[in-house]
Amino acid sequence: MSAVIETKSTYDVAAVRRDFPILARDVRGKRLVYLDNAATTQKPRQVIDRLVRYYSEENSNVHRGVHYLSELATLEYENARAYIRRFLNARDEKEIVFTRGTTESINLVAQTWGRANVREGDEILISAIEHHSNIVPWQMLCAEKQASLRIIPVFDNGELDLDAYERMLNPRVKLVAVGHASNALGTINPLRRIIGAAHANGSLVLVDGAQGVPHLTVDLQALDCDFYAFSGHKVYGPTGIGVLYGKQELLEAMPPWQGGGDMILSVSFEKTTYNALPYKFEAGTPNIAGAIGLAAALQYVASIGLDAIAAYEHELLVYAAARLQEIEGLRLIGTARGKAAVISFVLEGVHPHDIGTVLDQEGIAVRTGHHCAQPLMMRFNVPATGRASFGLYNTREEADALVAGLHKVIEVFR
Ligand SMILES: *Cc1c(COP(=O)(O)O)cnc(C)c1O
Repeated sequence: MSAVIETKSTYDVAAVRRDFPILARDVRGKRLVYLDNAATTQKPRQVIDRLVRYYSEENSNVHRGVHYLSELATLEYENARAYIRRFLNARDEKEIVFTRGTTESINLVAQTWGRANVREGDEILISAIEHHSNIVPWQMLCAEKQASLRIIPVFDNGELDLDAYERMLNPRVKLVAVGHASNALGTINPLRRIIGAAHANGSLVLVDGAQGVPHLTVDLQALDCDFYAFSGHKVYGPTGIGVLYGKQELLEAMPPWQGGGDMILSVSFEKTTYNALPYKFEAGTPNIAGAIGLAAALQYVASIGLDAIAAYEHELLVYAAARLQEIEGLRLIGTARGKAAVISFVLEGVHPHDIGTVLDQEGIAVRTGHHCAQPLMMRFNVPATGRASFGLYNTREEADALVAGLHKVIEVFR
């Protein structure tokens, strides 16, 4: 038996779907077809139940009281961090900082490491296919420091021009900040080559992993990036929680970011000493339930199997892309060789916004717009695209429903 057939027979999507209560609901009188996973994912009952248990039985503040519940909440919060370290194969729990999400993680690096290390005339490289979260914090830093932000170009198929990238590396480049996978095009970037070249040049690398963790196995020690940021809500976990991974020696050397409780060892009006990692970067009461819920989400994903999920999503992507391409006047934006299960498209003669409206009437949730990547839309000469992004619970039948919905769109608007 071939590996593909084995994947199909062992991946029980019907069982996976039963874990997600929201998938059973109707929307506008139709069964929900949720294809907006690159914006946020739905939550399995294992995560929902874990949040309910936390608030029902364990809720307290962490790292403070000596009372029973405070110790329990602290234990569960730190267990979550330990699990996330193992899941990502980071070296040490000190390297796992809880944040509100990818955006906050990247801003943390820009405002602490960046302010301390980037000087006038330095360069930061990002790519032409980044999310606004991995553009704007660097623009702000570069404006403050009179440094330059330079853009790694992208080919028409959505792959980065790595030869051009390697020619852009020079001693002034302090940091390369790139996505693991693009939320707008699906392109999976060849991180090994990008990181290897940056390190050979003496530059650090930050990876925006918002679309990496949900779709790919992430081994931080093998990858050897210096920072990695991701959001819980894109990987079946709660909103308002995310992670910044940083190599310990870098985090140690970075100044703290926000000041407040938990990030200090001692405070006097003359002098404050800061807490050890990772607490130095976790000022104030953290999102305790969120961290615990995120660990539950990663445990859920691990219980299904990262390779099985990746293989299943890849099959779905190939199937859906082939069916969409049969539609007359439909053009795929982003046809990179390595892609996560994200399909951006435009339909000749129809504005993407109208696509979204008609599909919504059919209970189909897709994203239409610029996907927080306006420079990318400009590069591909489109004002916006329709985007169907798949997750571990989507099915071929849902891809078929999308195709049928697009035929309706054409009937209405052409
Ligand atoms: C969603 C996303 C972000 C931003 O994540 P937030 O959870 O909104 O902070 C950044 N980059 C990519 C590639 C994303 O998909």
